[in-house]
Amino acid sequence: MPPIEMPKGLPFSVDTWTPSSNRKKHHFLTHAHKDHSQGISTHASFPIYATSITKALTLNYYPHLNESLFVDIEIGQSIAVDDSLEGFTVTAFDANHCPGAVMFLFEGAFGNILHTGDCRLTPECLQRLPEKYVGKISREPKCRLDYVFLDCTFGTFSSKMPSKHVAIRQVIDCIWNHPDARVVYLTCDLLGQEEILVSVCQTFGSKIFIDKENNPECFQSLSLTVPDIISHDPSSRFHLFDGYPRLSERAEAKLAEARANLQPDPLIIRPSAQWFVYEDVSSEAYKRKTDRFKEARKDQFGIWHVCYSMHSSRDELEWALRLLAPRWVVSTTPECRAMELGYVKRHCSYGNLAPNDPLWKLLDIDLKAPFVNDEEASCSASPFLMSRLEPSGEGFSEKEISTVSSEAKESSVTLFGRARLGLDNSTLIYENIDKPVISYMDEEDVEVQGRCADGDGPEGRQQESKLKEREEIVKNSSIACSRKEVGENIRKLYRSMYVPAPKPLPSLVDLLNNRKRTKRRLLS
Ligand SMILES: [Zn+2]
Repeated sequence: MPPIEMPKGLPFSVDTWTPSSNRKKHHFLTHAHKDHSQGISTHASFPIYATSITKALTLNYYPHLNESLFVDIEIGQSIAVDDSLEGFTVTAFDANHCPGAVMFLFEGAFGNILHTGDCRLTPECLQRLPEKYVGKISREPKCRLDYVFLDCTFGTFSSKMPSKHVAIRQVIDCIWNHPDARVVYLTCDLLGQEEILVSVCQTFGSKIFIDKENNPECFQSLSLTVPDIISHDPSSRFHLFDGYPRLSERAEAKLAEARANLQPDPLIIRPSAQWFVYEDVSSEAYKRKTDRFKEARKDQFGIWHVCYSMHSSRDELEWALRLLAPRWVVSTTPECRAMELGYVKRHCSYGNLAPNDPLWKLLDIDLKAPFVNDEEASCSASPFLMSRLEPSGEGFSEKEISTVSSEAKESSVTLFGRARLGLDNSTLIYENIDKPVISYMDEEDVEVQGRCADGDGPEGRQQESKLKEREEIVKNSSIACSRKEVGENIRKLYRSMYVPAPKPLPSLVDLLNNRKRTKRRLLS
């Protein structure tokens, strides 16, 4: 899943390479993992700020990219970015993720924004941020971050993961514990796992064999990052082993081959959090045991797993947010996951925002702009919304969409839609629209879902009783889709907006009435 676009009100993009991000004036690349440079070969434009390691690795992956597109920024460095509209300062901080990976801190008239890229946000990592932004448990920071774009990859994984340092120690111990293994296969082919190879190399005084023919990209990356650990000699005890695909099959084949030759079993170690988060088939009770991370664990295929994570666990994210106390948090990837964090549930609500809050400007929302009036509101849909509501496969045909209405007013574009997609007029593509249909919500409605998030309460039950009303509105629309589809699509919409879908979903009538109430309150 590619990272999210920056809100339209910001003059820069981070890790996104699309027509929309290309329209931004400044571009930032946090690190060289390919899911963060997807599209860069077609939508790159000057300047791209990145560390020199990230630049070198990226040019390695995309050799036709011109080096002159890049501007170097190194860890700890601040750059004053000149912008004809409003200048800003950007500073790079170590993201504790992979070589060259940084978090960017943006400070300007738009506010103070931390974009973590991918990160393992440990306390040490936090301490490197400017002191004024890092509070204590009982004290808020002197200066609050307005926005944190946060890597929530393992944001639902609540177990306490070992630090990278401890995990590397476990890899070393596992090798010590298997002195008979003549060959040790290390599945460390991902950018960010070099530290393990370096440590093995230093501890055992032996370089690592990397098959250049079969793994040229990894070979080139390691040649750039840790050239001293590479061996061209296949008789080396340590071999780099591909993590994908079909690791278990290949591991079993290696074991079978050794046994057929009356050799001792080779040792196959996979240092990754993936197995612990997604694949570990242990019982739920075992999963809760803290000692499951104490040492390497062997699976049924003979692979030894060590929990080496380049992303933060849920605990680490919660801890970081407590200290940073940002006003708003958005998950960079996966979408929406920030809303599952306790800090976000407690502290990030649109109800907290005053009409003159600079956050509105950041999101490029003009509260003074006219709202769609009530009659229109009941039947006007934003193109953004429609595109989000479009079911995959069957559902809306092109013809049906062309009859979907909207006057495509700025005000009908949802707040999160803008923030999420950086929409502008050029994306308002549904022309020749003459037949009004549905309107679901705009910025104020987001507050509604916030209150309704605990669907078991009386509000939730009331909404359930109004589901029929919603169904009526949908039925009256020109879109022929079932109640189930609409419900599912609204849920998707909520998720796309980084907010939890209320259970049950509120009725449209409630949403619209609430919007009116909130609007009056905000503008009074
Ligand atoms: Zn990454």
